[in-house]
Amino acid sequence: MDLTSPDSSLEYADEELAAFLDHRPAGRHHLLVVTRRHIRSVTHLSGSADDTSLIRRMEALARRLLSERGADMSDVRLGFHWKLVTVGHLHLHAISPTHEMSWLQKLEFSSWILASVGETIKMLETKNS
Ligand SMILES: [Zn+2]
Repeated sequence: MDLTSPDSSLEYADEELAAFLDHRPAGRHHLLVVTRRHIRSVTHLSGSADDTSLIRRMEALARRLLSERGADMSDVRLGFHWKLVTVGHLHLHAISPTHEMSWLQKLEFSSWILASVGETIKMLETKNS
């Protein structure tokens, strides 16, 4: 993901969050939800209520935008890439439908590599305990 790339197509923006179409989509709908302020990765957040509610707002926005695009909401994959690699700016992937993904896309966005929202919040909360 390159936020500065001119071909990044901005789908949504408010004071806090922005959403782009992934330029290498893994599904008919593939959005990236990012924070406007620079955060390197979810691993750079804490388990504070502010940070976990930020994750929840990113999730809510991702689901809302997918549904507005007519995505099948029963076949959605959401998650953060923090387990293996981080691309220098926190981003949430929102992909639908997942059943049309190639084996390579399934691998790239598998639960081994892509952490779910729940898993991410759990990881943050463990940091604080
Ligand atoms: Zn990613």
